[in-house]
Amino acid sequence: MNYSIALVPGDGIGPEVTAPATAVLDAIGDKYGHIFNYVELEAGGRAIDSAGEPLPKETLETAKQCDALLLGAVGGPQWETLPGHLRPERALLGLRAGLGVFANLRPAALLPQLRAACPLKDEVLTASNAEGKPGFDLLIVRELTGGIYFGEQGRSADGSSAYDTETYSRAEIERVLRTGYAAAGSRRKKLCVVDKANVLESSRLWRETAQALSREYADIETSYLYVDNAAMQLIRAPGQFDVIVTSNLFGDILSDEASVLTGSIGMLASASLGGPAKSGGSAKDGATVKDGSAVLGVMGMYEPIHGSAPDIAGKDIANPLAAILSAAMMLRYSFGLEREAAAIETGVNAVLDAGLRTRDIAGRSGGGTEKIVGTREMGEAVINALESQ
Ligand code: NAD
Repeated sequence: MNYSIALVPGDGIGPEVTAPATAVLDAIGDKYGHIFNYVELEAGGRAIDSAGEPLPKETLETAKQCDALLLGAVGGPQWETLPGHLRPERALLGLRAGLGVFANLRPAALLPQLRAACPLKDEVLTASNAEGKPGFDLLIVRELTGGIYFGEQGRSADGSSAYDTETYSRAEIERVLRTGYAAAGSRRKKLCVVDKANVLESSRLWRETAQALSREYADIETSYLYVDNAAMQLIRAPGQFDVIVTSNLFGDILSDEASVLTGSIGMLASASLGGPAKSGGSAKDGATVKDGSAVLGVMGMYEPIHGSAPDIAGKDIANPLAAILSAAMMLRYSFGLEREAAAIETGVNAVLDAGLRTRDIAGRSGGGTEKIVGTREMGEAVINALESQ
């Protein structure tokens, strides 16, 4: 099967981490008989320098024709003095809006090899985990294009008061919940809706919509938490969660909280998903969003959660694993290639088991022998691990 991937390396360490990610994808292609065609596009600071704007029209239009988009990172100090609408980060908002990606998926799992990076005690990590082992493996699905960040806002005439408005339609809530249910179907089949339905009318609509929809997904266990309790439970017992679905504002805060528990920004991948893929292989294989057990098969934008890290750019020391794991999410959610996605994740685990560490994750294992490697060497090690699977 052929797949077209819009590739936006971006600025700073962006190109350094997307290069190993595409090399890993190519190795997967060789092993499993797929062809990944990359269409390299400019966005962010690079595009400002060459085209005078962070998101040239051509970039967005071309990206829309592809099956998925893989992005490194954008931004850097040289563009920080530009007015807001010309800043590199505008490219991210433009891409998300232009591609219509309304669900942001952020996995947060504690890798045993990086146990010491998690600030929680062993007994907390063990007590909350169904398997009785220290750890957690959760996925936050955040609504990305609605709610208070997009609602009406303003100030009174004398500037002494201000307001922001949270508005959600049933349709907006339902589509992000369906994404959550589809993800839960391919995981541990648990979905927790986080809201503030005891106070907010918009949250009551979230809960009503979820209660009605949950009947369609009888094989998934649906639960509900108020956001204040959810924030506490993430610290008290993160192992109880599988998939959390929530609004834009609550998801923004909870996903940052969860990422701190994993302790390493260079390891965290993300996916932003929209409607059905245009020509993706998964759709042709019949693996579209249909029921809780199917893969998603949707257009998506995949990126590590870290930024362009100008302080370490060009030094071959950036951790490429977040970008590589973002590519794995692309295989799983846009192309329906679960076996291939899992192969990448197993490969990453294998290199960590072997003690290989980029500088940002060194000394987090709490013992054992470690070897410090650079960006390129880490990428090559993942490819070698794939080949020996
Ligand atoms: P950052 O994530 O770029 O860096 C924060 C810290 O983490 C730095 O010390 C950096 O060296 C380290 N770090 C980040 N990624 C790493 C990796 N893969 N391996 C090893 N260390 C890593 O955040 P920042 O410094 O606040 O922002 C730098 C620039 O990136 C800014 O212009 C910001 O606007 C932009 N940014 C872009 C995105 C994006 O493209 N999605 C996200 C966040 C920030």
